[in-house]
Amino acid sequence: MHVSRLLTTSSPRLTSPGRQPDKHLAGLAMSIHLRAHAFAANPLRGLAGSASAAAAVSSSAAADALRSLLDGADTAVHHHLSKVLPFRRGRPLTRSPDPPAPSPSSSSPAPPPSWRLAWLPPSRVPGIPSDVFVFLGSHGSDGDGKEAAAYWAVDVSEIEGASFGGAGDGSAFVDLRTLMVAADWRDKDGMGELAIAGHARALLEWHSTAKFCGACGAKAVPTEAGTRKQCSNESCKKRIYPRVDPVVIMLVIDKENDHALLSRQSRFVPRMWSCLAGFIEPGESLEEAVRRETWEETGIEVGQVIYHSSQPWPVGPNTMPCQLMVGFFAYAKSLEISVDTKELEDAQWHSREDVKRALTFAEYEKAQRSNAAKVNQICKGAERGGQSISADLSVGSEEAAPMFVPGPFAIAHHLISSWAFEGAPKVPSSFSNL
Ligand SMILES: [Zn+2]
Repeated sequence: MHVSRLLTTSSPRLTSPGRQPDKHLAGLAMSIHLRAHAFAANPLRGLAGSASAAAAVSSSAAADALRSLLDGADTAVHHHLSKVLPFRRGRPLTRSPDPPAPSPSSSSPAPPPSWRLAWLPPSRVPGIPSDVFVFLGSHGSDGDGKEAAAYWAVDVSEIEGASFGGAGDGSAFVDLRTLMVAADWRDKDGMGELAIAGHARALLEWHSTAKFCGACGAKAVPTEAGTRKQCSNESCKKRIYPRVDPVVIMLVIDKENDHALLSRQSRFVPRMWSCLAGFIEPGESLEEAVRRETWEETGIEVGQVIYHSSQPWPVGPNTMPCQLMVGFFAYAKSLEISVDTKELEDAQWHSREDVKRALTFAEYEKAQRSNAAKVNQICKGAERGGQSISADLSVGSEEAAPMFVPGPFAIAHHLISSWAFEGAPKVPSSFSNL
C-alpha cells in the first residue's frame, strides 16, 4: 500500500456505495481520503528536504530578531515578521471567527466555524526571557505579497496576568484534542494549523519534561532556538534532542475469511472499536513489535507484516510529548482469540461489511461540526475549554451504529478504511519474512 495512493485527494469521496443512494448519509459506505494524516504535512516544515527550504528564515536570524523585539528595540530593522503562539497547560491560543451567514436563497446548512491559531506579535508577550521561546519554522516571502515570517511558541502557564485569551479578545486556550476533532479534514489551511499546533505542543511538553541532563543530572538549557537542549554542566555538555516515542498500530487481518480484528479498551467511549497498538521494546524491529503485541494482547499469531503509513501523535500523555504511530497490516496465522484483560476489554473478528458500516461518516461529520461550534463558544467565553472529546463522538440512539471506529484524524481510521474499501495489500517486497 502506497501512502501516495491512500492519501491523495483533499475531499472525502464515495468509493463504493454498493446500493441505491440512501436518504440517510449514515447508511452510505464512505471512504475519507486525506492529503496527509492529521498532524503531518506541517506547512512550516513542508519545505524541509526540498530545494526551496533555503528560502525560509534561519533559526539564528529569527532568534536575533525575536530577542531585539522582546527587548523593545523596535527601531531594529528586521527582514521578516515574528509571530508567537502562546500555550497554557498544553493548549494553544485559538480564535474562531463566526462563519459568514449563508445567503437566504441557499438551501445548504450554514458552514461550521473554522478555528485558527491566534498568533501574536512579540510585543504582546513581554517579560518572558527569549530563550524559553521555541522556534517552529518559517515561511519565506512567496511572491504573492506575503511577507516572510518566523513562527514561535511559548508556554505562558506560569505568567501571571497575561493579557491575552478571554471573552474580551475573542480568543481562548483550547484543548488540542478538541481542536483535532473540530478541524475540517477538507480544509487544507485548517489541517496545516492543526499540524503546527501539534508540533508546538510536542516541543513545549518536551521542554517541560526534559529539565535535567540524563547523564549527570545537571540542569538542561535550551539551545538552537529551543529546538534542542544542552546540559549546563561544563564538563558534560551533553546534547539533548526532542523525544519521539514510536508506537506500532496494526490492523490484524484474517485473509481467508475476509475478517479484521478490532479491539476495545475500557477507556474507549461506548461502541468504539479500534486497531491494536503497543510500544516497541529495545532491540526489537517494528515487525517484531507488531507480532509480539498482537500475541500478548489477543493470543493471535501474526505472519506477514506490511507497512501502511505513519502519523505524528502529539496529543498523548504529557510524559510522551510526541508519539509516532507506525501503521501496519498484519496477517493472522491463527484465529483463536484469547484476550489479555489487563490490556483490552475485548477483541473480536469482524466481517468486511460490518467494518464498512462502522465507518460512520455522518457521525464524524457531526462530531466535527459540534466540536467546531464548541470551539467557537469557548473563544467567545461562553463555554469553558478543556472538556474531553469523549462525549462528542456518541450520537443519538436513532442512528446509532452497533459500533464505530476512530475518526479520520487517527491513523487507525485509515488502516481500517483502506482494508474495508480497497482490500488487503500485496506483499510489497522480498522482505516479507522480516
Ligand atoms: Zn550532563
